[in-house]
Amino acid sequence: MILNQYTLSARDAESATVISKGLAERCVQNAVNFQADSQRIKRKKYSECKACFYFCRHKMAGAACSSRPCGLCGKSVDSGSTDVSRLCLDCGHKHKLCVVCGGDIELKVYRRKWDLPEPVETQACDLCQSFFSKASLTELPKPRNGLRMLCKSCASL
Ligand SMILES: [Zn+2]
Ligand SMILES: [Zn+2]
Ligand SMILES: [Zn+2]
Repeated sequence: MILNQYTLSARDAESATVISKGLAERCVQNAVNFQADSQRIKRKKYSECKACFYFCRHKMAGAACSSRPCGLCGKSVDSGSTDVSRLCLDCGHKHKLCVVCGGDIELKVYRRKWDLPEPVETQACDLCQSFFSKASLTELPKPRNGLRMLCKSCASL
């Protein structure tokens, strides 16, 4: 594959240098913070592991508000961007897991017990598009207008 030319002016070279230098310095600073766990209290409050807290926190994400069901309890997790955590804060604290990646909060690969509950499986209601636990959705005997699975409040309409 041949890509487009990406011309380089003296100004381009200068700003590329500034960007690369800043990027590298942030990486080094993040590594220092990671080693020292310098914001441990804040990190625990947000239930994030050291890797996600110090290295992945400020990654770019889309601006649209988004939500997704928690990977364990199925409760909706909201975010101001498209970067939505995998677990809700309650589940993170309860099971000592990172809400961002789902891993152990202290990065203990060999932790004694991974005693996690069965995840509550969720599915979107065909009408309101909100997520509910699969068990709480009502299946229509015959699909009509593409509707098949409805939540309790939509089913009673
Ligand atoms: Zn949860
Ligand atoms: Zn993590
Ligand atoms: Zn519904």
